[in-house]
Parts: sequence; structure tokens; C-alpha cells
Amino acid sequence: MIITRPRDYSRIRDNLESVRAKKVFVVGCGECATQSETGGEPQVLDMKARLEASGYDVVGWTVVEIPCNTNVTKLALRKHAGSADEADAFVVLACGAGTQSVAEARPGKPAFPGLESAFLGNVVRHGVFDERCSMCGECVLDRTGGICPVTTCPKGLLNGPCGAMWQGRCDVLGDGRECVFVRIRERLEAQGRDEPGTIAPKDHSRKRKPGSVDVRTRGKSGGES
Ligand code: SF4
Ligand code: SF4
Repeated sequence: MIITRPRDYSRIRDNLESVRAKKVFVVGCGECATQSETGGEPQVLDMKARLEASGYDVVGWTVVEIPCNTNVTKLALRKHAGSADEADAFVVLACGAGTQSVAEARPGKPAFPGLESAFLGNVVRHGVFDERCSMCGECVLDRTGGICPVTTCPKGLLNGPCGAMWQGRCDVLGDGRECVFVRIRERLEAQGRDEPGTIAPKDHSRKRKPGSVDVRTRGKSGGES
């Protein structure tokens, strides 16, 4: 899931002031930002109260079930057409994808991010998320025992350890955690597998932006980029 953090409220206020917005509509996210406790109903109501305390007229709010789905967002805002039309601007408590869905659903009005999109996270226990994958487009987990060095080594090395390893610990992380390459070797050894050997540099063209997938054409004429 996409992990988000609250955005500095003064930036949100500056954004609204920059377009002289008086009437604001707040949009939350029923998926990742609800789980991250940054954009669910309680946070949307908290944002509404903060905006009202700052003198804004919050004309409406909603928590869109899946705001990264542009069509779902368009439908959800259609249900609030009156207040969404009345608003001068939107504040979106979702990831950047969700904010862009709102911007696309109402292209005539500014949609400002109310959160910072941080990373793709694994839920390790309730309310605790770890970054484990950077979506590099060329996965090496088959070589590394299911542990991603691209993401969990702070230097993003493919071949390590580096000189910052001391007694198996990563001095760059500096919090006592093991060097990821020690973990990889231990995992592979436990599985009776060979060390990963040298992993070739990544083909960064595999991560060309903007990515796009069309499952209808997958396996026919490409369909992915
Ligand atoms: S190598 Fe790491 S960053 Fe790349 S796809 Fe695999 S898990 Fe994600
Ligand atoms: S000690 Fe290991 S995990 Fe830390 S930066 Fe070096 S290679 Fe990466």
C-alpha cells in the first residue's frame, strides 16, 4: 500500500491563499490513507475543523473508496456535485495519484495535496509500515532470497556489503540493524542456495516514466511501458 504522511498545514493554507480560495471541499481516501491514518474519515473531519478554524468555509467533504481509481473518484464527486461545484478548491488527503484523480475529475478547480506520498509499504503490524520495494521494474528477489537490497540497503546497492558494514551491522542505518547483504546470505544459506554472485547493473530504461499498463493488450502488442 501507499504510505502517506500529513503535509505541513501551512503549505496547504499557502496553496489555498495563492488561489484566493474561500470555499473548500475536502476529499479523503478509503484505502491506503485510511490504513495509514492520514486520510480516513477522522483525519478528513480534523482537516475540516482546522480549515474552519482558519476561516475557510468547508462546503463539503467525502472519503472516496479508491481515489487512485479516476472513474471511482469522478463518480464519488458527482454524488457531491452541488458542494463540489460550489468549492473554490479541493484539499485531498490521499496519495499523489488520488490528488491527480480529483484534479482530473474537476479540472477547472485547483486540487491541492493534503498529504505527502512517502513510499510503497508493507504492513508489518497494525499501524506500522516498512518500505520493502521501490518498484524498480527489474526485480532481483529471485537472486536475493526474497530480500530487496535496492530498497532496504540505504545506499541501494545491488552488490555488497560496502565498507560501512561493521560486525554484520549497517553503520549507515546506525540503529543496530543488520546489513541487508548479511541477511541475504543468511537467508540463502538457510535455503541451501548459493550466494547471489554479482548482480548486473540495472537497465534503467525498464523504469521509464510515465509507466502505463493496458491489460487488454498484454501479451499481444506490448501493452506495457
Ligand atoms: S528488486 Fe526490489 S525494488 Fe525492484 S521490484 Fe524487486 S523488490 Fe521492488
Ligand atoms: S552496510 Fe550493507 S546495508 Fe548498509 S549501506 Fe553498506 S551495503 Fe548497504
